[in-house]
Amino acid sequence: MNKIKNKYILIPAITAVLSLVFLIFVSSTFKISKDKQYTAFLKDVSTRSISTVYVTTSPKVQVKLNDGTIYTTDNPRTNNFKENLLKDGINVSEQTLTSPSEIASISGFVISLIVLGIMAFKSTKRKSKGMFSATNLDVTAVEDIGYNFANVAGNEEAKDSVQDVVDFLKNPEKYSAYGARMPKGVILYGDPGTGKTLLAKAVAGEANVPFYAVSGSDFVQIYVGVGAGRIRSLFKKARGQGRAVIFIDEIDAIGKKRNNGPGGGSDEKDQTLNALLTEMSGFNETEGIIVIAATNRLDMLDEALLRPGRFDRHIEVTLPDVSAREKILKLHFKNKPIKDIDYAEWAHKTTSFSGAKLENLTNEAAIIACKDNAVFISNEHMDKAYSIMLAGYEKVDRDYIKDQDRNITAFHEAGHALISLKMLPKDKVSKVTIIPTTKGAGGYTLSIPEDSLYQNKDHLKKKIMVLLGGRAAEEITFGLDHVTTGAYSDLQRSTELIANMVTEYGMGESLGLLSMAKLKESGFTNQETVFLECKNLISDLYEEVKSILLDEKDSLDAVTALLIEKETICHEDLINIIEDKNNGVA
Ligand code: ADP
Ligand code: ZN
Repeated sequence: MNKIKNKYILIPAITAVLSLVFLIFVSSTFKISKDKQYTAFLKDVSTRSISTVYVTTSPKVQVKLNDGTIYTTDNPRTNNFKENLLKDGINVSEQTLTSPSEIASISGFVISLIVLGIMAFKSTKRKSKGMFSATNLDVTAVEDIGYNFANVAGNEEAKDSVQDVVDFLKNPEKYSAYGARMPKGVILYGDPGTGKTLLAKAVAGEANVPFYAVSGSDFVQIYVGVGAGRIRSLFKKARGQGRAVIFIDEIDAIGKKRNNGPGGGSDEKDQTLNALLTEMSGFNETEGIIVIAATNRLDMLDEALLRPGRFDRHIEVTLPDVSAREKILKLHFKNKPIKDIDYAEWAHKTTSFSGAKLENLTNEAAIIACKDNAVFISNEHMDKAYSIMLAGYEKVDRDYIKDQDRNITAFHEAGHALISLKMLPKDKVSKVTIIPTTKGAGGYTLSIPEDSLYQNKDHLKKKIMVLLGGRAAEEITFGLDHVTTGAYSDLQRSTELIANMVTEYGMGESLGLLSMAKLKESGFTNQETVFLECKNLISDLYEEVKSILLDEKDSLDAVTALLIEKETICHEDLINIIEDKNNGVA
Protein backbone atom coordinates (compact mmCIF):
# COMPACT_ATOMS: atom_id res chain seq x y z
CA MET A 1 0.00 0.00 0.00
CA ASN A 2 2.60 2.47 1.09
CA LYS A 3 4.92 1.37 -1.70
CA ILE A 4 2.32 2.23 -4.30
CA LYS A 5 1.75 5.62 -2.73
CA ASN A 6 5.47 6.24 -2.88
CA LYS A 7 5.41 5.54 -6.58
CA TYR A 8 2.78 8.21 -7.16
CA ILE A 9 5.07 10.77 -5.66
CA LEU A 10 7.35 10.24 -8.65
CA ILE A 11 4.80 11.80 -11.02
CA PRO A 12 4.98 15.40 -9.73
CA ALA A 13 8.71 15.00 -9.26
CA ILE A 14 9.14 14.11 -12.91
CA THR A 15 6.85 16.89 -14.17
CA ALA A 16 8.72 19.37 -11.99
CA VAL A 17 12.04 18.39 -13.54
CA LEU A 18 10.60 18.38 -17.05
CA SER A 19 9.04 21.82 -16.75
CA LEU A 20 12.27 23.18 -15.30
CA VAL A 21 14.24 21.86 -18.25
CA PHE A 22 11.68 23.23 -20.65
CA LEU A 23 11.76 26.60 -18.93
CA ILE A 24 15.53 26.84 -19.21
CA PHE A 25 15.32 25.89 -22.86
CA VAL A 26 12.53 28.34 -23.69
CA SER A 27 13.97 31.29 -21.86
CA SER A 28 17.45 30.78 -23.26
CA THR A 29 16.21 30.73 -26.85
CA PHE A 30 13.96 33.61 -26.03
CA LYS A 31 16.69 35.68 -24.45
CA ILE A 32 18.87 35.26 -27.52
CA SER A 33 16.36 37.48 -29.32
CA LYS A 34 18.30 40.10 -31.17
CA ASP A 35 19.18 43.55 -30.00
CA LYS A 36 18.56 46.49 -32.27
CA GLN A 37 19.92 50.03 -32.40
CA TYR A 38 17.68 52.64 -30.81
CA THR A 39 17.50 54.37 -34.16
CA ALA A 40 16.21 51.24 -35.82
CA PHE A 41 13.59 51.15 -33.09
CA LEU A 42 12.60 54.75 -33.82
CA LYS A 43 12.23 53.78 -37.42
CA ASP A 44 9.90 50.95 -36.51
CA VAL A 45 7.92 53.46 -34.47
CA SER A 46 7.57 55.75 -37.39
CA THR A 47 6.56 52.92 -39.73
CA ARG A 48 3.93 51.89 -37.15
CA SER A 49 5.07 48.28 -37.25
CA ILE A 50 5.27 47.94 -33.44
CA SER A 51 2.48 46.37 -31.42
CA THR A 52 3.79 46.52 -27.85
CA VAL A 53 6.75 47.89 -25.98
CA TYR A 54 7.63 46.39 -22.61
CA VAL A 55 9.18 49.01 -20.35
CA THR A 56 10.61 48.14 -16.98
CA THR A 57 13.36 49.62 -14.85
CA SER A 58 15.89 47.45 -16.64
CA PRO A 59 18.37 49.11 -19.07
CA LYS A 60 16.69 47.35 -22.03
CA VAL A 61 13.14 47.52 -23.28
CA GLN A 62 11.53 44.68 -25.16
CA VAL A 63 9.75 45.38 -28.41
CA LYS A 64 7.14 43.20 -30.05
CA LEU A 65 6.36 43.90 -33.68
CA ASN A 66 3.02 43.38 -35.37
CA ASP A 67 4.41 40.33 -37.15
CA GLY A 68 5.34 38.79 -33.79
CA THR A 69 9.10 39.32 -33.90
CA ILE A 70 10.64 40.41 -30.68
CA TYR A 71 13.81 42.34 -30.07
CA THR A 72 15.38 44.47 -27.41
CA THR A 73 16.76 47.94 -27.53
CA ASP A 74 18.16 50.51 -25.12
CA ASN A 75 15.84 52.01 -22.55
CA PRO A 76 16.07 55.77 -23.13
CA ARG A 77 14.76 56.40 -19.59
CA THR A 78 13.24 59.67 -20.61
CA ASN A 79 10.24 60.83 -18.62
CA ASN A 80 7.89 61.02 -21.56
CA PHE A 81 9.03 57.88 -23.35
CA LYS A 82 5.84 56.04 -22.44
CA GLU A 83 3.63 58.98 -23.26
CA ASN A 84 5.19 59.40 -26.71
CA LEU A 85 4.67 55.76 -27.54
CA LEU A 86 1.08 55.86 -26.38
CA LYS A 87 0.52 58.91 -28.56
CA ASP A 88 1.80 56.88 -31.50
CA GLY A 89 -0.84 54.23 -30.78
CA ILE A 90 1.64 51.67 -29.42
CA ASN A 91 0.74 49.51 -26.44
CA VAL A 92 3.03 49.94 -23.48
CA SER A 93 3.35 47.24 -20.87
CA GLU A 94 5.27 47.75 -17.64
CA GLN A 95 6.04 44.07 -17.25
CA THR A 96 8.70 42.07 -18.96
CA LEU A 97 7.53 40.12 -21.92
CA THR A 98 7.18 36.44 -21.10
CA SER A 99 6.42 33.98 -23.81
CA PRO A 100 3.35 31.77 -23.35
CA SER A 101 5.53 28.68 -23.34
CA GLU A 102 7.63 30.24 -20.61
CA ILE A 103 4.50 30.93 -18.59
CA ALA A 104 3.30 27.38 -19.18
CA SER A 105 6.52 25.82 -18.01
CA ILE A 106 6.76 28.10 -14.97
CA SER A 107 3.25 27.24 -13.93
CA GLY A 108 3.91 23.56 -14.61
CA PHE A 109 6.92 23.74 -12.35
CA VAL A 110 5.09 25.55 -9.58
CA ILE A 111 2.09 23.22 -9.67
CA SER A 112 4.34 20.15 -9.59
CA LEU A 113 6.19 21.57 -6.60
CA ILE A 114 2.97 22.20 -4.75
CA VAL A 115 1.66 18.71 -5.47
CA LEU A 116 5.01 17.24 -4.46
CA GLY A 117 4.95 19.21 -1.23
CA ILE A 118 1.44 18.06 -0.37
CA MET A 119 2.27 14.43 -1.06
CA ALA A 120 5.47 14.55 0.95
CA PHE A 121 3.65 16.18 3.83
CA LYS A 122 0.93 13.57 3.75
CA SER A 123 3.35 10.69 3.69
CA THR A 124 5.41 11.96 6.62
CA LYS A 125 2.18 12.54 8.44
CA ARG A 126 1.19 8.96 7.76
CA LYS A 127 4.53 7.72 9.02
CA SER A 128 4.55 9.81 12.13
CA LYS A 129 1.01 8.80 12.81
CA GLY A 130 2.31 5.32 13.51
CA MET A 131 4.76 6.78 15.94
CA PHE A 132 2.71 9.34 17.76
CA SER A 133 -0.86 8.28 17.61
CA ALA A 134 -2.21 6.51 20.61
CA THR A 135 -4.82 4.65 18.70
CA ASN A 136 -2.71 3.45 15.85
CA LEU A 137 -1.69 0.14 17.38
CA ASP A 138 -3.23 -2.04 14.71
CA VAL A 139 -4.72 -4.83 16.70
CA THR A 140 -7.56 -6.63 15.13
CA ALA A 141 -9.26 -9.47 16.85
CA VAL A 142 -8.84 -12.89 15.37
CA GLU A 143 -12.38 -14.17 15.44
CA ASP A 144 -12.14 -17.85 14.79
CA ILE A 145 -8.67 -18.60 15.97
CA GLY A 146 -8.73 -22.23 14.93
CA TYR A 147 -6.74 -23.48 17.90
CA ASN A 148 -7.90 -25.64 20.73
CA PHE A 149 -6.43 -27.78 23.45
CA ALA A 150 -5.73 -30.54 20.96
CA ASN A 151 -3.04 -28.30 19.49
CA VAL A 152 -1.23 -28.24 22.79
CA ALA A 153 0.57 -31.48 23.56
CA GLY A 154 1.77 -32.16 27.07
CA ASN A 155 1.43 -29.17 29.42
CA GLU A 156 -1.39 -31.03 31.14
CA GLU A 157 -1.20 -29.04 34.38
CA ALA A 158 -1.31 -25.75 32.53
CA LYS A 159 -4.26 -26.88 30.47
CA ASP A 160 -6.08 -27.91 33.64
CA SER A 161 -5.35 -24.55 35.18
CA VAL A 162 -7.00 -22.63 32.37
CA GLN A 163 -9.93 -24.99 31.92
CA ASP A 164 -12.21 -22.94 34.19
CA VAL A 165 -11.18 -19.76 32.41
CA VAL A 166 -12.54 -21.29 29.23
CA ASP A 167 -15.72 -22.23 31.07
CA PHE A 168 -16.06 -18.73 32.37
CA LEU A 169 -15.56 -17.16 28.96
CA LYS A 170 -18.26 -19.39 27.56
CA ASN A 171 -20.67 -18.57 30.31
CA PRO A 172 -19.73 -15.62 32.53
CA GLU A 173 -23.26 -15.26 33.90
CA LYS A 174 -23.12 -18.69 35.47
CA TYR A 175 -20.07 -17.76 37.48
CA SER A 176 -21.55 -14.49 38.65
CA ALA A 177 -24.73 -16.31 39.74
CA TYR A 178 -22.57 -18.22 42.19
CA GLY A 179 -20.86 -15.04 43.23
CA ALA A 180 -17.60 -16.50 42.02
CA ARG A 181 -14.97 -14.00 41.06
CA MET A 182 -12.99 -15.06 38.03
CA PRO A 183 -9.44 -13.89 37.61
CA LYS A 184 -9.26 -10.90 35.31
CA GLY A 185 -5.75 -11.72 34.38
CA VAL A 186 -3.73 -14.88 34.00
CA ILE A 187 0.03 -14.93 33.79
CA LEU A 188 1.69 -17.76 31.93
CA TYR A 189 5.34 -17.97 32.79
CA GLY A 190 8.11 -20.24 31.65
CA ASP A 191 10.96 -20.63 29.22
CA PRO A 192 10.67 -19.29 25.68
CA GLY A 193 8.99 -21.63 23.24
CA THR A 194 7.17 -23.70 25.83
CA GLY A 195 3.80 -22.91 24.29
CA LYS A 196 2.48 -19.94 26.26
CA THR A 197 1.16 -18.19 23.19
CA LEU A 198 -0.22 -21.46 21.95
CA LEU A 199 -2.07 -22.02 25.21
CA ALA A 200 -3.57 -18.52 25.16
CA LYS A 201 -4.78 -19.08 21.60
CA ALA A 202 -6.22 -22.42 22.63
CA VAL A 203 -8.16 -20.75 25.45
CA ALA A 204 -9.70 -18.29 23.00
CA GLY A 205 -10.36 -21.08 20.53
CA GLU A 206 -11.97 -23.39 23.07
CA ALA A 207 -14.18 -20.59 24.37
CA ASN A 208 -14.82 -19.40 20.83
CA VAL A 209 -14.15 -15.76 21.63
CA PRO A 210 -12.10 -13.17 19.71
CA PHE A 211 -8.37 -13.14 20.40
CA TYR A 212 -6.35 -9.95 20.62
CA ALA A 213 -2.60 -10.43 20.57
CA VAL A 214 -0.14 -7.67 21.43
CA SER A 215 3.37 -7.60 22.77
CA GLY A 216 4.51 -5.60 25.76
CA SER A 217 7.16 -4.01 23.60
CA ASP A 218 4.43 -2.46 21.41
CA PHE A 219 3.66 -0.19 24.32
CA VAL A 220 7.14 0.95 25.10
CA GLN A 221 7.49 4.21 23.26
CA ILE A 222 9.83 7.09 23.56
CA TYR A 223 6.93 9.46 23.79
CA VAL A 224 5.31 9.58 27.17
CA GLY A 225 1.64 8.74 27.12
CA VAL A 226 1.58 6.82 23.87
CA GLY A 227 1.79 3.42 25.55
CA ALA A 228 -0.98 4.32 27.99
CA GLY A 229 -3.17 5.53 25.12
CA ARG A 230 -2.62 2.32 23.26
CA ILE A 231 -3.62 0.25 26.26
CA ARG A 232 -6.84 2.22 26.57
CA SER A 233 -7.69 1.84 22.91
CA LEU A 234 -6.92 -1.88 23.03
CA PHE A 235 -9.31 -2.44 25.89
CA LYS A 236 -11.92 -0.27 24.25
CA LYS A 237 -11.79 -2.42 21.16
CA ALA A 238 -11.97 -5.65 23.14
CA ARG A 239 -14.93 -4.43 25.16
CA GLY A 240 -16.72 -3.56 21.98
CA GLN A 241 -16.60 -7.27 21.20
CA GLY A 242 -18.19 -8.37 24.44
CA ARG A 243 -16.18 -11.42 25.38
CA ALA A 244 -12.56 -11.64 24.40
CA VAL A 245 -9.11 -12.87 25.28
CA ILE A 246 -6.46 -10.18 25.31
CA PHE A 247 -3.01 -11.71 25.08
CA ILE A 248 -0.01 -9.61 26.08
CA ASP A 249 3.26 -11.31 25.23
CA GLU A 250 6.43 -10.11 26.98
CA ILE A 251 4.47 -8.40 29.72
CA ASP A 252 7.79 -7.65 31.44
CA ALA A 253 8.41 -4.93 28.86
CA ILE A 254 5.80 -2.82 30.65
CA GLY A 255 5.44 -4.59 33.96
CA LYS A 256 9.01 -4.92 35.16
CA LYS A 257 9.65 -4.20 38.82
CA ARG A 258 9.65 -0.48 39.32
CA ASN A 259 12.96 0.95 40.25
CA ASN A 260 12.44 3.43 43.05
CA GLY A 261 16.03 4.60 43.21
CA PRO A 262 16.97 8.01 41.87
CA GLY A 263 17.18 8.09 38.10
CA GLY A 264 15.65 4.66 37.81
CA GLY A 265 12.32 3.79 36.23
CA SER A 266 10.72 5.69 33.44
CA ASP A 267 7.57 7.74 33.47
CA GLU A 268 6.51 6.15 30.25
CA LYS A 269 6.59 2.62 31.62
CA ASP A 270 4.82 3.67 34.79
CA GLN A 271 2.07 5.36 32.85
CA THR A 272 1.57 2.35 30.62
CA LEU A 273 1.51 0.00 33.58
CA ASN A 274 -0.93 2.23 35.43
CA ALA A 275 -3.18 2.41 32.40
CA LEU A 276 -3.20 -1.38 32.23
CA LEU A 277 -4.04 -1.70 35.90
CA THR A 278 -6.77 0.89 35.64
CA GLU A 279 -8.32 -0.82 32.63
CA MET A 280 -8.23 -4.15 34.39
CA SER A 281 -9.93 -2.85 37.49
CA GLY A 282 -12.36 -1.04 35.19
CA PHE A 283 -14.17 -4.03 33.81
CA ASN A 284 -16.26 -6.13 36.10
CA GLU A 285 -16.35 -9.83 36.58
CA THR A 286 -19.34 -10.51 34.40
CA GLU A 287 -17.96 -8.84 31.34
CA GLY A 288 -16.18 -11.87 29.99
CA ILE A 289 -12.83 -10.35 29.16
CA ILE A 290 -9.70 -12.17 30.23
CA VAL A 291 -6.21 -10.80 29.92
CA ILE A 292 -3.58 -13.48 29.47
CA ALA A 293 0.00 -12.30 29.78
CA ALA A 294 3.18 -14.21 29.12
CA THR A 295 6.64 -13.75 30.52
CA ASN A 296 9.84 -15.74 30.82
CA ARG A 297 10.47 -14.46 34.32
CA LEU A 298 7.70 -14.14 36.87
CA ASP A 299 10.10 -12.80 39.48
CA MET A 300 10.86 -9.77 37.30
CA LEU A 301 7.31 -8.48 37.40
CA ASP A 302 6.07 -5.60 39.47
CA GLU A 303 4.08 -6.73 42.49
CA ALA A 304 1.31 -4.34 41.57
CA LEU A 305 0.55 -6.54 38.57
CA LEU A 306 0.30 -9.69 40.61
CA ARG A 307 -2.09 -8.44 43.26
CA PRO A 308 -5.61 -9.90 43.59
CA GLY A 309 -8.00 -8.40 41.09
CA ARG A 310 -5.24 -8.08 38.52
CA PHE A 311 -3.12 -10.94 37.28
CA ASP A 312 -3.96 -13.13 40.19
CA ARG A 313 -3.52 -16.49 38.54
CA HIS A 314 0.01 -17.58 37.76
CA ILE A 315 0.48 -20.67 35.69
CA GLU A 316 3.86 -22.17 35.02
CA VAL A 317 4.41 -23.53 31.54
CA THR A 318 7.38 -25.85 31.83
CA LEU A 319 9.74 -27.45 29.40
CA PRO A 320 8.22 -30.74 28.29
CA ASP A 321 9.29 -33.94 30.00
CA VAL A 322 10.09 -37.07 28.09
CA SER A 323 6.50 -38.17 27.54
CA ALA A 324 5.36 -34.66 26.65
CA ARG A 325 8.19 -34.44 24.12
CA GLU A 326 7.00 -37.62 22.53
CA LYS A 327 3.47 -36.23 22.28
CA ILE A 328 4.68 -32.95 20.83
CA LEU A 329 6.79 -34.74 18.21
CA LYS A 330 3.84 -36.93 17.27
CA LEU A 331 1.58 -33.89 17.01
CA HIS A 332 3.91 -32.08 14.65
CA PHE A 333 4.48 -35.16 12.52
CA LYS A 334 0.77 -35.81 12.30
CA ASN A 335 0.32 -34.46 8.82
CA LYS A 336 3.75 -35.29 7.46
CA PRO A 337 4.76 -38.40 5.51
CA ILE A 338 6.90 -40.31 7.97
CA LYS A 339 8.31 -43.78 8.21
CA ASP A 340 9.83 -45.63 11.15
CA ILE A 341 10.41 -42.57 13.25
CA ASP A 342 11.46 -43.81 16.66
CA TYR A 343 9.47 -41.39 18.79
CA ALA A 344 10.62 -42.78 22.10
CA GLU A 345 14.25 -42.42 21.15
CA TRP A 346 13.82 -38.91 19.83
CA ALA A 347 11.91 -37.91 22.91
CA HIS A 348 14.80 -39.25 24.91
CA LYS A 349 17.43 -37.46 22.83
CA THR A 350 15.74 -34.09 23.07
CA THR A 351 16.21 -33.39 26.77
CA SER A 352 15.68 -29.70 27.51
CA PHE A 353 14.16 -29.00 24.10
CA SER A 354 11.17 -26.66 24.25
CA GLY A 355 8.01 -27.29 22.27
CA ALA A 356 9.11 -24.69 19.76
CA LYS A 357 12.46 -26.40 19.33
CA LEU A 358 10.77 -29.74 18.82
CA GLU A 359 8.51 -28.21 16.21
CA ASN A 360 11.60 -26.79 14.58
CA LEU A 361 13.26 -30.19 14.60
CA THR A 362 10.35 -31.84 12.80
CA ASN A 363 10.25 -29.02 10.30
CA GLU A 364 13.99 -29.15 9.64
CA ALA A 365 13.75 -32.92 9.13
CA ALA A 366 10.92 -32.39 6.66
CA ILE A 367 12.98 -29.85 4.73
CA ILE A 368 15.97 -32.19 4.58
CA ALA A 369 13.80 -35.09 3.41
CA CYS A 370 12.31 -32.83 0.77
CA LYS A 371 15.74 -31.72 -0.45
CA ASP A 372 16.73 -35.39 -0.66
CA ASN A 373 13.57 -36.13 -2.63
CA ALA A 374 12.89 -38.88 -0.13
CA VAL A 375 9.42 -40.43 -0.10
CA PHE A 376 9.26 -40.38 3.68
CA ILE A 377 10.79 -38.48 6.52
CA SER A 378 12.90 -40.97 8.43
CA ASN A 379 15.29 -41.25 11.35
CA GLU A 380 18.15 -40.40 9.07
CA HIS A 381 16.63 -36.98 8.28
CA MET A 382 15.93 -36.48 11.95
CA ASP A 383 19.58 -37.20 12.70
CA LYS A 384 20.74 -34.51 10.32
CA ALA A 385 18.16 -32.04 11.56
CA TYR A 386 19.17 -32.74 15.15
CA SER A 387 22.84 -32.02 14.49
CA ILE A 388 21.96 -28.88 12.58
CA MET A 389 19.80 -27.64 15.42
CA LEU A 390 22.41 -28.25 18.06
CA ALA A 391 25.50 -27.25 16.17
CA GLY A 392 24.53 -25.48 12.97
CA TYR A 393 25.07 -26.49 9.37
CA GLU A 394 28.22 -28.36 8.47
CA LYS A 395 30.56 -26.41 6.28
CA VAL A 396 30.69 -28.01 2.87
CA ASP A 397 33.93 -26.46 1.71
CA ARG A 398 36.57 -27.77 4.08
CA ASP A 399 39.64 -27.90 1.84
CA TYR A 400 40.97 -24.69 3.25
CA ILE A 401 41.44 -26.17 6.73
CA LYS A 402 45.05 -26.79 7.51
CA ASP A 403 46.10 -30.21 8.78
CA GLN A 404 47.49 -28.54 11.86
CA ASP A 405 44.06 -27.06 12.67
CA ARG A 406 42.29 -30.35 12.07
CA ASN A 407 44.76 -31.97 14.40
CA ILE A 408 44.09 -29.47 17.17
CA THR A 409 40.32 -29.75 16.74
CA ALA A 410 40.54 -33.54 16.82
CA PHE A 411 42.48 -33.57 20.09
CA HIS A 412 40.15 -30.97 21.58
CA GLU A 413 36.97 -32.89 20.73
CA ALA A 414 38.51 -36.21 21.72
CA GLY A 415 39.26 -34.63 25.09
CA HIS A 416 35.61 -33.65 25.60
CA ALA A 417 34.40 -37.06 24.47
CA LEU A 418 36.75 -39.03 26.71
CA ILE A 419 36.03 -37.01 29.83
CA SER A 420 32.32 -37.26 29.13
CA LEU A 421 32.59 -41.01 28.79
CA LYS A 422 34.59 -41.26 32.01
CA MET A 423 32.79 -38.78 34.20
CA LEU A 424 29.21 -38.90 32.93
CA PRO A 425 28.77 -42.43 31.58
CA LYS A 426 24.98 -42.04 31.65
CA ASP A 427 25.08 -39.16 29.18
CA LYS A 428 25.41 -40.86 25.85
CA VAL A 429 28.00 -39.24 23.58
CA SER A 430 26.08 -39.61 20.35
CA LYS A 431 28.38 -37.82 17.95
CA VAL A 432 31.87 -36.35 17.83
CA THR A 433 32.93 -34.42 14.77
CA ILE A 434 35.72 -32.19 13.53
CA ILE A 435 33.64 -30.80 10.69
CA PRO A 436 33.32 -27.09 11.35
CA THR A 437 29.85 -25.61 11.46
CA THR A 438 28.38 -22.45 10.10
CA LYS A 439 27.83 -21.38 13.69
CA GLY A 440 31.58 -21.00 14.05
CA ALA A 441 32.58 -24.12 15.97
CA GLY A 442 35.65 -25.95 14.71
CA GLY A 443 33.99 -29.21 15.64
CA TYR A 444 31.72 -30.43 18.40
CA THR A 445 30.80 -33.27 20.69
CA LEU A 446 27.12 -34.02 21.16
CA SER A 447 25.98 -35.81 24.22
CA ILE A 448 22.48 -36.60 25.34
CA PRO A 449 22.06 -35.60 28.95
CA GLU A 450 19.96 -37.61 31.31
CA ASP A 451 16.50 -36.34 32.09
CA SER A 452 16.50 -35.13 35.64
CA LEU A 453 14.75 -32.53 37.68
CA TYR A 454 17.76 -31.51 39.71
CA GLN A 455 21.47 -31.50 39.18
CA ASN A 456 23.54 -32.26 42.19
CA LYS A 457 26.88 -30.74 43.08
CA ASP A 458 28.86 -33.77 41.98
CA HIS A 459 27.10 -33.82 38.63
CA LEU A 460 27.70 -30.11 38.05
CA LYS A 461 31.40 -30.56 38.78
CA LYS A 462 31.57 -33.39 36.28
CA LYS A 463 29.81 -31.28 33.68
CA ILE A 464 32.42 -28.61 34.19
CA MET A 465 35.13 -31.21 33.79
CA VAL A 466 33.67 -32.31 30.45
CA LEU A 467 33.71 -28.69 29.34
CA LEU A 468 37.36 -28.39 30.37
CA GLY A 469 38.29 -31.62 28.57
CA GLY A 470 38.90 -29.85 25.26
CA ARG A 471 41.40 -27.32 26.56
CA ALA A 472 43.11 -29.93 28.75
CA ALA A 473 43.67 -32.22 25.76
CA GLU A 474 45.19 -29.32 23.83
CA GLU A 475 47.51 -28.47 26.68
CA ILE A 476 48.81 -31.95 27.42
CA THR A 477 49.40 -32.60 23.72
CA PHE A 478 50.79 -29.33 22.42
CA GLY A 479 52.03 -27.63 25.58
CA LEU A 480 50.84 -24.61 27.50
CA ASP A 481 52.14 -22.14 24.92
CA HIS A 482 50.10 -23.67 22.15
CA VAL A 483 46.62 -23.75 23.59
CA THR A 484 44.08 -22.11 21.29
CA THR A 485 41.01 -19.93 21.33
CA GLY A 486 38.95 -23.03 20.56
CA ALA A 487 38.01 -23.35 24.21
CA TYR A 488 36.39 -19.91 24.32
CA SER A 489 32.79 -20.97 24.68
CA ASP A 490 33.69 -23.97 26.88
CA LEU A 491 35.28 -21.55 29.33
CA GLN A 492 32.32 -19.22 29.25
CA ARG A 493 29.95 -22.02 30.11
CA SER A 494 32.13 -23.52 32.80
CA THR A 495 32.64 -20.10 34.40
CA GLU A 496 28.92 -19.58 34.45
CA LEU A 497 28.33 -22.97 36.07
CA ILE A 498 31.02 -22.43 38.70
CA ALA A 499 29.77 -18.98 39.54
CA ASN A 500 26.24 -20.27 39.96
CA MET A 501 27.39 -23.12 42.16
CA VAL A 502 29.31 -20.84 44.49
CA THR A 503 27.01 -17.81 44.47
CA GLU A 504 23.48 -19.09 43.91
CA TYR A 505 23.18 -22.82 44.54
CA GLY A 506 24.68 -22.83 48.02
CA MET A 507 27.42 -25.26 46.98
CA GLY A 508 30.46 -23.17 47.84
CA GLU A 509 32.53 -22.33 50.89
CA SER A 510 32.87 -18.57 50.93
CA LEU A 511 29.17 -17.78 50.83
CA GLY A 512 27.83 -21.02 52.23
CA LEU A 513 24.10 -21.02 51.73
CA LEU A 514 23.89 -17.32 50.99
CA SER A 515 22.70 -16.07 47.63
CA MET A 516 24.97 -13.52 46.05
CA ALA A 517 22.13 -11.87 44.14
CA LYS A 518 20.21 -11.26 47.34
CA LEU A 519 23.32 -10.10 49.19
CA LYS A 520 23.95 -7.55 46.48
CA GLU A 521 20.41 -6.24 46.89
CA SER A 522 21.27 -5.66 50.52
CA GLY A 523 24.36 -3.71 49.64
CA PHE A 524 26.98 -6.42 50.07
CA THR A 525 30.04 -5.74 47.97
CA ASN A 526 32.99 -7.83 49.15
CA GLN A 527 33.45 -10.32 46.37
CA GLU A 528 37.16 -11.05 46.61
CA THR A 529 36.86 -14.36 48.46
CA VAL A 530 34.07 -15.54 46.19
CA PHE A 531 36.20 -14.81 43.18
CA LEU A 532 39.16 -16.67 44.65
CA GLU A 533 37.04 -19.66 45.49
CA CYS A 534 35.68 -19.89 41.94
CA LYS A 535 39.18 -19.62 40.55
CA ASN A 536 40.56 -22.32 42.82
CA LEU A 537 37.64 -24.60 42.11
CA ILE A 538 38.06 -24.41 38.35
CA SER A 539 41.84 -24.85 38.64
CA ASP A 540 41.40 -27.99 40.75
CA LEU A 541 38.90 -29.45 38.32
CA TYR A 542 41.20 -28.62 35.42
CA GLU A 543 44.15 -30.38 37.04
CA GLU A 544 41.97 -33.42 37.61
CA VAL A 545 40.90 -33.47 33.97
CA LYS A 546 44.50 -33.20 32.79
CA SER A 547 45.60 -36.10 34.94
CA ILE A 548 42.72 -38.29 33.65
CA LEU A 549 43.68 -37.50 30.09
CA LEU A 550 47.35 -38.19 30.76
CA ASP A 551 46.39 -41.56 32.19
CA GLU A 552 44.28 -42.22 29.13
CA LYS A 553 46.68 -40.75 26.62
CA ASP A 554 46.50 -43.92 24.49
CA SER A 555 42.74 -43.66 24.19
CA LEU A 556 43.00 -39.94 23.51
CA ASP A 557 45.43 -40.56 20.67
CA ALA A 558 43.30 -43.35 19.27
CA VAL A 559 40.08 -41.31 19.32
CA THR A 560 41.94 -38.41 17.74
CA ALA A 561 43.35 -40.60 14.99
CA LEU A 562 39.92 -42.00 14.18
CA LEU A 563 38.46 -38.50 14.12
CA ILE A 564 41.09 -37.32 11.68
CA GLU A 565 40.40 -40.31 9.52
CA LYS A 566 36.58 -40.27 9.59
CA GLU A 567 35.80 -36.65 10.57
CA THR A 568 32.69 -37.81 12.43
CA ILE A 569 32.44 -40.70 14.85
CA CYS A 570 29.53 -42.07 16.83
CA HIS A 571 28.89 -43.61 20.21
CA GLU A 572 29.77 -47.16 19.10
CA ASP A 573 33.12 -46.08 17.62
CA LEU A 574 34.04 -44.51 20.93
CA ILE A 575 33.04 -47.52 22.99
CA ASN A 576 35.01 -49.82 20.69
CA ILE A 577 38.18 -47.77 21.05
CA ILE A 578 37.94 -47.63 24.81
CA GLU A 579 37.29 -51.36 25.07
CA ASP A 580 40.19 -52.17 22.74
CA LYS A 581 42.51 -50.03 24.80
CA ASN A 582 41.33 -51.51 28.06
CA ASN A 583 41.74 -55.04 26.72
CA GLY A 584 45.18 -54.17 25.41
CA VAL A 585 46.26 -53.00 28.85
CA ALA A 586 44.79 -56.02 30.63
P1 ADP B 1 6.01 -19.19 23.91
O1 ADP B 1 4.87 -18.27 23.75
O2 ADP B 1 6.00 -19.92 25.22
O3 ADP B 1 7.35 -18.59 23.64
P2 ADP B 1 4.86 -20.43 21.63
O4 ADP B 1 3.50 -20.69 22.11
O5 ADP B 1 5.05 -19.25 20.77
O6 ADP B 1 5.87 -20.37 22.84
O7 ADP B 1 5.38 -21.75 20.90
C1 ADP B 1 5.98 -21.69 19.64
C2 ADP B 1 5.63 -22.93 18.83
O8 ADP B 1 6.16 -24.09 19.44
C3 ADP B 1 4.16 -23.19 18.74
O9 ADP B 1 3.58 -22.48 17.70
C4 ADP B 1 4.09 -24.69 18.52
O10 ADP B 1 4.29 -24.99 17.16
C5 ADP B 1 5.28 -25.19 19.28
N1 ADP B 1 4.91 -25.66 20.61
C6 ADP B 1 5.32 -25.17 21.79
N2 ADP B 1 4.80 -25.86 22.81
C7 ADP B 1 4.00 -26.80 22.27
C8 ADP B 1 3.15 -27.83 22.82
N3 ADP B 1 3.03 -28.01 24.13
N4 ADP B 1 2.49 -28.60 21.95
C9 ADP B 1 2.62 -28.43 20.63
N5 ADP B 1 3.37 -27.49 20.06
C10 ADP B 1 4.07 -26.69 20.86
ZN1 ZN C 1 35.33 -27.44 23.32
